[in-house]
Amino acid sequence: PQVAMIPVSALLKEVVLLTESEALMKGCEINFYPLQEEMIISGDIKQMKQVVLNMIRNAMEAITEKIDDSMGRIELGASREGAEVRIFISDNGKGMDICTLDRLFSPFFTTKENGTGLGLSVSDRIIKNHGGCISVSSRVNEGTRFVISLPLIQ
Ligand code: ADP
Ligand code: MG
Repeated sequence: PQVAMIPVSALLKEVVLLTESEALMKGCEINFYPLQEEMIISGDIKQMKQVVLNMIRNAMEAITEKIDDSMGRIELGASREGAEVRIFISDNGKGMDICTLDRLFSPFFTTKENGTGLGLSVSDRIIKNHGGCISVSSRVNEGTRFVISLPLIQ
């Protein structure tokens, strides 16, 4: 792993650029909230990008799998909480039931026909290795919100 100083705004912007056109083709909009202040984390930029990218892909898939024709919406942003940054990824996709929420981070757990079930277990490992954690809240048919907490470089 390559450890470097990572500006959170640049990290998120880059992932938005990578996923925007794919999202639009799938009929969902990505709203990226400009950060109130610059925040720097320390870590492996490739791994960090992989985590956020995975969550946006999951959000797009949850929107595609939802059985109604409301506009898909993904929200991405970050704020400071004391010595930590909270990065959030929200979607108005199909949401998750308790059984899914319980097994979310288990390796190979997937509800998708062609899923690997590795995205979130690998992400969880990466974030823990960086001294952080992932939390999630979700409601069936309403949507899901992931929050990644990571220590800031002051
Ligand atoms: P995969 O995407 O290959 O299925 P993941 O580890 O990324 O593997 O996700 C595991 C499972 O968690 C998914 O199959 C899906 O059921 C659920 N999940 C993850 N993110 C979301 C989300 N944003 N909305 C609804 N379900 C989700
Ligand atoms: Mg995935």
